[in-house]
Amino acid sequence: MALKLTDIKTEVHNDWCPGCGDFGILSAVQMALAELNVEPHRVCVVSGIGCSGKTPHYLRTYGVHTLHGRSLPFATGIKLANPNLEVIACGGDGDGMGIGAGHFVNSGRRNVDMTDIIYDNGVYGLTKGQASPTLKLGMKTKSLPKPNVNQGINPIMLALASGYTFVSRGYAYDVRHLKDLIKRAIQHKGFAFVDVLQPCPTYNDILTKEYWSGEDLLNKSGKPTPRTYKLEETGYDGVAHNADEEEMEKKVQQAVLKSFEFGDHTPIGVFYQNEFVPTYEERLAARMASYKTNPPADQEIAHADGTPLANIDKLLEDMRV
Ligand code: SF4
Repeated sequence: MALKLTDIKTEVHNDWCPGCGDFGILSAVQMALAELNVEPHRVCVVSGIGCSGKTPHYLRTYGVHTLHGRSLPFATGIKLANPNLEVIACGGDGDGMGIGAGHFVNSGRRNVDMTDIIYDNGVYGLTKGQASPTLKLGMKTKSLPKPNVNQGINPIMLALASGYTFVSRGYAYDVRHLKDLIKRAIQHKGFAFVDVLQPCPTYNDILTKEYWSGEDLLNKSGKPTPRTYKLEETGYDGVAHNADEEEMEKKVQQAVLKSFEFGDHTPIGVFYQNEFVPTYEERLAARMASYKTNPPADQEIAHADGTPLANIDKLLEDMRV
């Protein structure tokens, strides 16, 4: 039976600020899961700390609201224990590209078959708008006493350099486009990264909805010129169509070049996709024949009377020095 949005949404009170881009991302995730008809009990959403950390509260799926910057290790453990789950990690750019940056890089090179969505707004919204890792050098949001003194991370380039096999960007207020992107990310075989331009109207008065809509950039007819454009509408093709190394390298190189475009002409869509790289689960299965048929989550851990199968006493005895 086809899922409805009401099968995915919860009635939990939402206290995000009015106009926050998080609402668009949440709607896109809910619509993507409903359209893919992924039953809620087959999905686990994992978040870190930040405004976006509340996302699992609003989804009628399994969910873990975990520690700051640690959504990816939790999500990886969940996926490896139960590879039949659809696992989606989510968090802000402060969470994922700051304290979680080491996990972000190492998750890319593992290529576990799951999805990471970064709510990219350039500020730490939950703690009153300090500069976060993607805020560009010299930008001064209303929450900062002085312009940002650090360089901003380019999340698309970092994902490409780390080995992510699906690298994309969406915009929180183009919900239908973002929904389609998230559907592709979930369906991708390998680790999919979705960077989402997410206006935080409370603390970032530069990268606003009005900025991305180009309300200050009027064309000859006096109409706003949006600052985002869709890669797929320009003939750009980021998909590796065969396992040829030269082709794969070319696709990465063109994606790196595209990743530098930001500001008045900012691409959204799929920068790069390559399903020829083996997933981490496939590499594990090559070493452990039973991994796919009997993953950890399916294994018996106790006898019928509740006593554990593992003999800890014997294990401890064996370890005695
Ligand atoms: Fe959204 Fe910013 Fe408010 Fe957080 S502080 S809920 S990111 S608008």
